[in-house]
Amino acid sequence: MSLADKDRIFTNVYGFQDWGLKAAQARGDWDDTKKLMEVGQDAIIDEIKASGLRGRGGAGFPTGMKWSFMPKESKDGRPSFLVINADESEPGSCKDREIIRHDPHKLIEGALIAGFAMRARAAYIYIRGEYIREAETLFAAVEQAYDAGLLGKSAAGSGYDFDIYVHRGAGAYICGEETAMIESLEGKKGQPRLKPPFPAGAGLYGCPTTVNNVESIAVVPTILRRGASWFASFGRENNKGTKLFQISGHVNKPCVVEEAMSISFEELIEKHCGGIRGGWDNLLAVIPGGSSVPLVPGEQIRNAFMDFDGLKELGSGLGTAGVIVMDKSTDVVRAISRLSYFYKHESCGQCTPCREGTGWMWRVMKRLETGDAAIEEIDMLQQVTKQVEGHTICALGDAAAWPIQGLIRHFRPEIERRIVERAGAMQEAAE
Ligand code: NAD
Ligand code: SF4
Repeated sequence: MSLADKDRIFTNVYGFQDWGLKAAQARGDWDDTKKLMEVGQDAIIDEIKASGLRGRGGAGFPTGMKWSFMPKESKDGRPSFLVINADESEPGSCKDREIIRHDPHKLIEGALIAGFAMRARAAYIYIRGEYIREAETLFAAVEQAYDAGLLGKSAAGSGYDFDIYVHRGAGAYICGEETAMIESLEGKKGQPRLKPPFPAGAGLYGCPTTVNNVESIAVVPTILRRGASWFASFGRENNKGTKLFQISGHVNKPCVVEEAMSISFEELIEKHCGGIRGGWDNLLAVIPGGSSVPLVPGEQIRNAFMDFDGLKELGSGLGTAGVIVMDKSTDVVRAISRLSYFYKHESCGQCTPCREGTGWMWRVMKRLETGDAAIEEIDMLQQVTKQVEGHTICALGDAAAWPIQGLIRHFRPEIERRIVERAGAMQEAAE
């Protein structure tokens, strides 16, 4: 089932209308927010749980459940905080950027309601350093909300005091990892912490904290207005709601579009992207969830459900729903090699398997690109990915290992072909 226009949450995602407060209010944002809050904190959390919303930053952890980990009473007078992850840096992902550019008031209103539900005194929105214009929009939108009495003392007339601080990152991918983000907000080098403890136990400044993605927070006001059952009416069991898909690469019309979860890959591409460049027979492979998930060969993904379970069944994942489409003109070994360089470059260097392993994997990938390797090195590379996967402090190690595993699983003959051809050419030259 695909989404009708009347069911879109992000009605200004293409920026056809003004992002400012008045226009946002005309679209329904900030409409009696106080009434949404009057039902009480626990009722809001229950409604989000009932909606089936799962984190939209990539991991898909149930949002309502995450909120319920926050303490109901303050211990030792410590405040609680909400941190909003706008450090969108995953290659292939660009949805939070569109929300901030064109619908920032959905995020700000969502922050107030989510913060209230979790008894947080303030929200910190950590925005990617490269998002310069987006940060300007966000600062201005927050100021508009303060000027209108929607933030600050008795925010939106609710009797609840709530502040929002916008903090700009400085260009490190790893600061999108929630505990590295907390370290960075505290003024330290952005390096992930060991979990547990999870942020709800010990987060920002040692206080209870929840870190949520921009999209997860921005959909909250609409879910409360239209009801959990409305949101849960889209998608399959365990994969509910609407979702911003970001489709890039070799489609006729790349775009960011809100769709129902569980839409098929074919419908998503035909309905919104004008099909695959050169037709379906020309589709080579797809990375369906941002660069941290393994690729899926074209013939396997065509009828797949674009949701957490559907893509997991194919050995990949929904991740951020940053869908990277590659047609047969793509040098797929080179593409994955380039991703390996990215992870090597962005590793914070804190743990040995990631610091050493990402460099090692990239160097072998570079040689596989040209075939300058021995056949046995393919298995050795596979073993290295297994030594990195699951043996690091944060998910960057897994993210570096998985795309290579996907390449070897699905394109081993192509890697071998390069090695054999190069060896043949070398031998010919020597003779
Ligand atoms: P994770 O599964 O470790 O955690 C997800 C969330 O659930 C976190 O907030 C975590 O605190 C919480 N959580 C998990 N288990 C918990 C427990 N037992 N108790 C309490 N809370 C718990 O994943 P992660 O490392 O936060 O994120 C990895 C994902 O991030 C990847 O799948 C990738 O797709 C995505 N990612 C996104 C971007 C982006 O630009 N949006 C960038 C890099 C990676
Ligand atoms: Fe740093 Fe990599 Fe270890 Fe994450 S896995 S903490 S990025 S070294």
